[in-house]
Amino acid sequence: AQEQRLIFIIFGGSGDLAHRKLYPALFKLYVKGYLRQHFAVIGTARRQWSHEYFRQTVMESVVADIGDQEQIASFAQHFYYQSHDVNDAEHYIALKKLSAQLNDQYSAGNNQVFYMAVAPKFFGTVASHINSEHLLNEQGFNRLVIEKPFGRDLASAKALNDSISKTFAEDQIYRIDHYLGKEMVQALPIIRFTNPLLAAVWNNQYISNVQITLSETLGVGERAGYYETAGTLRDMIQNHALQILGLIAMDRPAEFTASAIHDQKSKLFSQLQLYSAEQVDQNFVRGQYGPDAKEYQQGYREADNVADDSNTETFVAGKILIDNDTWQGVPFYVRSGKRLRRKATRVDIVFKPEANNIFATKLAKIVRPRPVVLSLVIEPKQGIQLLLNATTPGNGLRTTLDELRFQPPAASLADSQEAYEKLLIDIVEGNQTNFTNWSEQYYTWRFIDRIRKRWDEVQPDFPNYCSNTFGPEASDQLLKKDSHEWIFGT
Ligand code: NAD
Repeated sequence: AQEQRLIFIIFGGSGDLAHRKLYPALFKLYVKGYLRQHFAVIGTARRQWSHEYFRQTVMESVVADIGDQEQIASFAQHFYYQSHDVNDAEHYIALKKLSAQLNDQYSAGNNQVFYMAVAPKFFGTVASHINSEHLLNEQGFNRLVIEKPFGRDLASAKALNDSISKTFAEDQIYRIDHYLGKEMVQALPIIRFTNPLLAAVWNNQYISNVQITLSETLGVGERAGYYETAGTLRDMIQNHALQILGLIAMDRPAEFTASAIHDQKSKLFSQLQLYSAEQVDQNFVRGQYGPDAKEYQQGYREADNVADDSNTETFVAGKILIDNDTWQGVPFYVRSGKRLRRKATRVDIVFKPEANNIFATKLAKIVRPRPVVLSLVIEPKQGIQLLLNATTPGNGLRTTLDELRFQPPAASLADSQEAYEKLLIDIVEGNQTNFTNWSEQYYTWRFIDRIRKRWDEVQPDFPNYCSNTFGPEASDQLLKKDSHEWIFGT
């Protein structure tokens, strides 16, 4: 790896995200040589911590599976702490001084990455202070990394974007959707665009429907406070599910560059069919988990920090239509939920049967081909599965569904990179491919707002599915109406 020079400034440096995800991932970059001598990390947060205490917490957060204690300690020496209130202009001036001093000390090339690991309500404030207190370097690069959620509807996303774009240009902004950091998600364009036998059939002539599933077995756990303000539609569908849909359905980019890919995804999102209230009722299903059948697990409403009459959805299934020539008439079903029976992130692509079954003759009267399915499995084990019609010896012309399965060998899986590690490498190298741009946010929120607005008008009848199932009955009905069924977990 080529060594990068930069100062990281992490707002919310004492927080959960920073310790659970960022510091371990930064350590991987250190071990692999992306970061060596010429970098420093400034953690800022409200508490009064010493550099030493901060370094202790960093060392504790770094799992020592790839480094030795000495290496972890030398890594932690690059960390500095600055107590900071996001509203206090003085603190930004102190931060600026510290950053300049560390830049000289480490010869960090006048490069800075500002990382927002604070609550979203502070994003705008921090960005505007970075501007007014002149924290941006004139030479070198300045990059802003911003965590989800990026707004809670189109209006708030737009306000947030306006506030950060007064300070940062679009090519300096890295909006994180950590699903785009998953290796198998990044592989989707490769699988689509380098295999002629797939590229040739990637349209409504051959594809019957596409099913995108992001299922979790866990309940809301300790995140109820946040979840009550979000729900599955905002938390999973607007970002992760639609980003996967974008990679599956976008047109072929002219070249594999960040801007070409963003352009294609934006165009695709602009073609999502916007629903009327009535169409929302027909095409989207929401749910909330109750206890499981044996009542070992509590329902969502019984969780800590959840209102007894909460109407927050923990499950969404929807049918999405795309208004372009390639996908006219092909439903894209998306589904995500908590407390479902199995955990998975996957895309199941169902092909149309041959229009004319030439085997429906007396000669071959028992042949009934079934739909061919290509499954792109992102989690739990990444891989590709293809269900094909075939025959088995001794069984005449009776078709069986054969499965071709590609799964990376365990040895190579051991080398797989965690999402945050991959995304941080992209950030230090200045590659925006696996981040979302404003236009994608705009069009996905525009689509989601229609659904949210309708749901806010009508009281749901919750809870409506048992824990440890695949969601409400209406989710299966949604596909049945179209004579389809969920490939995964029915
Ligand atoms: P957290 O509550 O653990 O940390 C928040 C940080 O902000 C702390 O360091 C705190 O000291 C600091 N802070 C709070 N008020 C401040 C103020 N007035 N001035 C300066 N600093 C202040 O939160 P978190 O879970 O680390 O989440 C941070 C961000 O990351 C949020 O936007 C969240 O939505 C997002 N996120 C978190 C996770 C996760 O796994 N924790 C996952 C995805 C996205």
